[in-house]
Amino acid sequence: MGKTTNTVLARDGAQRAPWQYGAATIISKALFDTTAVYDALIVGAGITGITTALFLQKAGKKVFDTTAVYDALIVGAGITGITTALFLQKAGKKVVIAEAHNPGFGTTGGTSAHINTFADTTYAEAANAFGEEGAQLFANAINEGFTTIKSNIDTYQIDCDYEINPGYLYAETGDEAKQLDEIYNGALKVGVPVNYTEEVPTPVEYLNALAFDGQAQFHPLKYLRGLQKAYLEAGGVILGNTLITGIETDNGIHTAHSLTNVIRAKTVIYATHMPPNINLFNFECAPYRSYVLGLKLKTDTYPDALVYDMQEPYHYFRTQVIDGEKLLIAGGNDHKTGHADPEKAFADLEKYIRKYYNVSSVKYRWSSQYYVPVDGLPYIGQMPLAADGIYCATGYNGNGMMLGSIAGKILSDLVRRRPNRYQDLFSPSRIKPVDSFSEFVKENADVAYHFVADRFHIHETDSLKRLQRGTGKVLEVDGEKIAAYRDEKGAVHALSPVCTHAGCIVNWNGEEKSWDCPCHGARYDIDGNVLTGPATKNLLKISSDEN
Ligand SMILES: Cc1cc2nc3c(=O)[nH]c(=O)nc-3n(C[C@H](O)[C@H](O)[C@H](O)COP(=O)(O)OP(=O)(O)OC[C@H]3O[C@@H](n4cnc5c(N)ncnc54)[C@H](O)[C@@H]3O)c2cc1C
Repeated sequence: MGKTTNTVLARDGAQRAPWQYGAATIISKALFDTTAVYDALIVGAGITGITTALFLQKAGKKVFDTTAVYDALIVGAGITGITTALFLQKAGKKVVIAEAHNPGFGTTGGTSAHINTFADTTYAEAANAFGEEGAQLFANAINEGFTTIKSNIDTYQIDCDYEINPGYLYAETGDEAKQLDEIYNGALKVGVPVNYTEEVPTPVEYLNALAFDGQAQFHPLKYLRGLQKAYLEAGGVILGNTLITGIETDNGIHTAHSLTNVIRAKTVIYATHMPPNINLFNFECAPYRSYVLGLKLKTDTYPDALVYDMQEPYHYFRTQVIDGEKLLIAGGNDHKTGHADPEKAFADLEKYIRKYYNVSSVKYRWSSQYYVPVDGLPYIGQMPLAADGIYCATGYNGNGMMLGSIAGKILSDLVRRRPNRYQDLFSPSRIKPVDSFSEFVKENADVAYHFVADRFHIHETDSLKRLQRGTGKVLEVDGEKIAAYRDEKGAVHALSPVCTHAGCIVNWNGEEKSWDCPCHGARYDIDGNVLTGPATKNLLKISSDEN
């Protein structure tokens, strides 16, 4: 699928998104040319550490100084992390980003990149849950996220295929038409421009529709690359391949640990989409997977618009030019992570699109993950039950382009101890620890180790023999469950299926070739390495007689 030439920026799945091409070279070049890759990391600032560092520096080697105290450590280099880092670095703060893989590895590299003035939580729903004032502030935040992207593009001259297009939302049933009226009234009340229309550029028959003028779209990784470049030029530091596993706080200084690194900072921001390890958001945000196709059509019926239906799950259509070639970007068919078959979700999506569009080929297909907050609004601010000065941003639903951008402003204001008008509305402390939370933490503290992988050694069984090449399955061998994947060469990759985050059993995702946890969305590759989600420990490996 897609182009195989050029450097391809890695993302958290086996399928390729079009964004991974083109932006790749410059992102990794910036990463390597500037500050990200050090010749040596000296952990410890005793006489040995300092002397070694000095010798290495004198010998012309680049050494990451683990004794330095940064003003802010940003964990995660998606749109939230890099936007926040840029604001802070430009404001004169000393910032370091620690990214588990590479910038754009997470959902920012798997987004569909619509920039809207409306959101998945409608303004009518926001008014019901947070009052008229809350809905108005939410609309202002979405709008400010939208304009933040545009102003960053202008300020830093980012060439990211930004385009303004009208948006259309259409109803196909009486119930949907009623909801559409509520959306119309809710949007009018908060001053978001919207009109009824009878001219939606869609082949689907509809009853009623709304037009939102002045929506936008872009190439998300070209945009991210532009922000990253500006951040590095302003003196920011990015550490790639640095998965933060935990943080200790002493005297107001936070020490973050990864397998190879120690980073000290006065403030920490989890821009990880979902904060790592067991936390309150595991109860407050549900992980969803969403599917996208990039298709070539036989006729030039690509919409010059962003078009959405209101089905459950919904579909959307827009056009993107990639390497001079027009593509229909169509997506939807969302479901809770690990709760449905991704292969079927793609097949259903493709069938639905082919019903209405004359498709000549599917050039890209990919899926990614987002988090639905229980009360409809994102959580941005001081992390509950964590030391002072540890912040987070999560629960964006499918609106992280705008919300990740406004989070950048809110979080950089909080770090700089400046008031922000959205801080109360989005404050994570609006959620209260549920009664069962402390029990949950206790029970799940070391859950992976209930599985005795080191004493367990799988051997050839019927169920294992039946496992086809290129497929994975949770199987039972000698009364123990194992997560087994047989690669294209026939070798078995066997793992404990116990998610290291909270002890649920992972499910196989045959499309992205990953093990996905149905409880809180942790995801692992075929060798058990953490891809995304709240886990920070890999699945335990099991040795197999077969290999
Ligand atoms: C299919 C799909 C389509 C979407 N379409 C749209 C859209 O059209 N418009 C819109 O506004 N929103 C959309 N969204 C939502 C939007 O893409 C996301 O909300 C947004 O990209 C999240 O950005 P982020 O920076 O917060 O997280 P991410 O982009 O996921 O970045 C988090 C980063 O943190 C790193 N990380 C995680 N844990 C650690 C750790 N412990 N240590 C170090 N690093 C770590 C990850 O590797 C990752 O790179 C869509 C989502 C999906 C799934």
